[in-house]
Amino acid sequence: MSAQLIDGKALAERVRAQIAVDVGAFVERHGRPPGLATILVGEDPASAVYVGGKQRACAEVGIRGFDNRLAADASRAEVVELIERLNADDAVNGIICQLPVPGHLDGVELTGLVDAGKDVDGLTALSAGLLALGRPGLRPCTPEGVMLLLADAGAKLEGAEAVVLGRSNLFGKPMAQLLLAANATVTVCHSRTHDLPAVCRRADVLIAAVGRPRMVGADWVRPGATVIDVGINRVDGELCGDVDFDAVGEVAGAITPVPGGVGPMTIACLLGNTLKAARMAAGEDVG
Ligand code: NAP
Repeated sequence: MSAQLIDGKALAERVRAQIAVDVGAFVERHGRPPGLATILVGEDPASAVYVGGKQRACAEVGIRGFDNRLAADASRAEVVELIERLNADDAVNGIICQLPVPGHLDGVELTGLVDAGKDVDGLTALSAGLLALGRPGLRPCTPEGVMLLLADAGAKLEGAEAVVLGRSNLFGKPMAQLLLAANATVTVCHSRTHDLPAVCRRADVLIAAVGRPRMVGADWVRPGATVIDVGINRVDGELCGDVDFDAVGEVAGAITPVPGGVGPMTIACLLGNTLKAARMAAGEDVG
């Protein structure tokens, strides 16, 4: 492979180490740690693994975790009551309602009930609006993690052609907004885009988030481009991204692996958002 490997695991470790230091300083100033509450409705095994990972990550940096579990048949009223209780709890600075929720509940509606100051997933309408307006706020963790990876890899964004493959509310749209705020020229592609390879070849920075195993081939990539692979796909029991890593690694200037690229940055940014929410709640200037 000729491309520079962008090591998300190593960067996430550095980010988490700094957060642990900053959490320690927060405790010194305020006499209590930041708190993150997770809500898991039902027993979906993958969701249980994700929630467990978030709780462990909190403990490692000194953030207090509140692990809330409800039965799979919990009523809408029960979940709403829990979110309202957590919204009102001063020890809780961030709230995550783990998605997907069971079919009788509306995950988007429930996420929207989280207090904007505790929206550490950055997914409420208010957080999305603040991002679109370029105002300070809590940003979605995965796109924020991609921005940190790009900065660490030395990617120049000002004036660069950035192409985002995928337009989801969770990732593609906020990613495009963050790149725009960094003065990139941004194109967002989706399933109706004509001649995807040609559009992608324009990119100095190509970010793929479609959920299609190894869809982005070497002929989609401009030589020397920085390629960020957000996709997480399981093929024959193995994880792979949306980018054909081996082939694109011979053309790109820099590339993230899967696993070990974007994924570890998502949790690191969740911890960062929880600390930021705690500092905002304490009246500190977070810039
Ligand atoms: P999503 O909501 O399913 O959105 C997928 C997007 O890709 C849509 O905009 C869709 O277009 C587009 N798309 C799908 N097939 C396409 C095709 N053949 N050609 C062009 N565009 C196509 O997915 P998501 O939540 O954004 O996640 C995308 C991937 O990133 C998944 O693999 C997910 O697991 C991964 N992910 C990883 C992390 C992490 O922490 N590493 C976090 C979030 C997501 P339309 O809008 O036209 O349907």
